[in-house]
Amino acid sequence: MSPIINACLEAAKKANSPMIVQFSNGGGIYNAGKGLKNEADQKTAVMGCVAGALHVRALAEFYGVPVILHTDHCSKALLPWFDGLLEANEEYFAKHGEPLFSSHMLDLSEESIEENMEISAKYLKRMAAIDCHLEVEIGITGGEEDGVDNTDVAPEDLYSKPEEIHQVYKALEPVAPGMYSIAAAFGNVHGVYSPGNVKLTPKILGNAQKFVKAEEGLETDKPCYFVFHGGSGSSREDIREAIDYGVIKMNIDTDTQWSFWDGVKDYVADKSDYLQGQIGNPDGPEKPNKKYYDPRMWLREAETYTVNRLLGAYEDLNAMDALSK
Ligand SMILES: [Zn+2]
Repeated sequence: MSPIINACLEAAKKANSPMIVQFSNGGGIYNAGKGLKNEADQKTAVMGCVAGALHVRALAEFYGVPVILHTDHCSKALLPWFDGLLEANEEYFAKHGEPLFSSHMLDLSEESIEENMEISAKYLKRMAAIDCHLEVEIGITGGEEDGVDNTDVAPEDLYSKPEEIHQVYKALEPVAPGMYSIAAAFGNVHGVYSPGNVKLTPKILGNAQKFVKAEEGLETDKPCYFVFHGGSGSSREDIREAIDYGVIKMNIDTDTQWSFWDGVKDYVADKSDYLQGQIGNPDGPEKPNKKYYDPRMWLREAETYTVNRLLGAYEDLNAMDALSK
């Protein structure tokens, strides 16, 4: 939605650093309009994402910040959404020589790893032809997001094994070297919860890099690109450790949902006496309140709080001022 996009672009400009804007399936539907039905063909989700991407592209150029457009988790049931997005990319590529989105995530982690890799490799081949990157997921990210609830899975399933990460490398590297990234499970969780059984363990990623390097006899210390899902609520130390082990992208959603709401919450508390009716406030019984309940007033607070949270994330990620480095 546009206030969140504005917050992303404003933060990127202030940080002088690139930004990844990603749409989830539910985010795409929301962007198209919740009054529309999203049928099994996923047309509403596709339209919402395509419209959002065009909006971001137009404004990013005006702001002068590089933006990577991406889409989030896509399970097997949502593949028509993925297909629709790829068609839009191919159409855009034919006209402009680049895809509409920079990358997409395919999340077939609920299927066997063999099937996951078979389908992922097929899509990667199609995507690499138009310079579009693929993010795949193995294992399980804990917590709950966009209607997928993994809050009850066994703790040991929340950690990927080096062999599984090697399997992804073997399946995808020959198809399109370096054009894919891996959302592996290292105790990361969607959402922010009070501390429980799951512990963020970035070292899992470091061990996997060593394993793949040794098995393949490679020169490079970091043969895999990793993605950190569920970055919200993580400490700066853990985030930077994860980057050391080859994390190139971190998702942050829950914390920015909170900052967005926090801005509105504080605005309502601060201006409460001016928000109880259209007319009448502490300045006089006939004074109009229009300039206080105008959506742009309280949504602006949501944006400002979110910009500040995102600037904190740039610090966490060592990404401040990246464009002048
Ligand atoms: Zn995720």
